[in-house]
Amino acid sequence: MGRITAFDYPPGPHVRRHGPFGYTDYKSYRDWLRDDFCFRCVFCLRRERWVRRRATFHIDHLVPRSEAPERACDYTNLVYVCASCNSVKSDLAVPDPCQVGFGQCVRVHDDGRIEPLSETGELLVDLLRLDDKDCTRYRKMILDTLRLIVRNKERDAHLQWMGYPEELPDLSRKTPPGNSRPDGIKRSCFARKLQGKLPESY
Ligand SMILES: [Zn+2]
Repeated sequence: MGRITAFDYPPGPHVRRHGPFGYTDYKSYRDWLRDDFCFRCVFCLRRERWVRRRATFHIDHLVPRSEAPERACDYTNLVYVCASCNSVKSDLAVPDPCQVGFGQCVRVHDDGRIEPLSETGELLVDLLRLDDKDCTRYRKMILDTLRLIVRNKERDAHLQWMGYPEELPDLSRKTPPGNSRPDGIKRSCFARKLQGKLPESY
């Protein structure tokens, strides 16, 4: 427990650990995407832990299916997102988190406000409405709660908010038709937890 990092966007572009291919239903990539994107929305950083997961997390096509139907089941075109970001984004072309580090583009302040640091950041914030009242209020609520938890040294509560999900997907049991990055399975959260190498929180 220390600084509140819940809304620190990754400094560099996301590097995919996994490379499954060949599924004919894009939803089959869900657990791969959950692990790859750390069980949180790549756009607003909302975590599975903070919501009822099944109702709240979706798979988004970076290049929409209407534009590139041939990429509907292309893993490199898929990201893990929350329902709010998914519905706001719709068919808009937003920056690809695997091309740009969102941490270079936006910064979230202690009071929940989000500040664009570049043109790409402005685009990201505008298109996904990350600066609307509701979104800002939500971040502030989470940050206030986490600050209280840290101040009171509530270790269990901290793990509930900032830990990995209790049930992690065992990707070694998945059998996609192909996988261009099979080694990623060894670095999945499930495998690292088995080896005792997964941090308690992130
Ligand atoms: Zn989101």
